[in-house]
Amino acid sequence: MIDEGPSPEDVRRFSDETGYCPACGAEIWDAAPRCPECGRWIDGATESQHPEQAAARRKMMALIAILTLLGFTGLLAILRIF
Ligand SMILES: [Zn+2]
Repeated sequence: MIDEGPSPEDVRRFSDETGYCPACGAEIWDAAPRCPECGRWIDGATESQHPEQAAARRKMMALIAILTLLGFTGLLAILRIF
């Protein structure tokens, strides 16, 4: 039996090849014709128009993730004191 389209395993295997939507910054599969988040059509490679913006956004996301983690850890420490 031959599969017509990519199986979930295939999608997972190629999930490394992700890019970021130039419009909303959502992480999307590089080969996706359009962004599933905002519906913007992707012409060619993602991030081709505003790589600096995308990089800045990614840094911001990492910062937010770290701050959230620190905040959560701090909250746990406070709860442990009382
Ligand atoms: Zn988008």
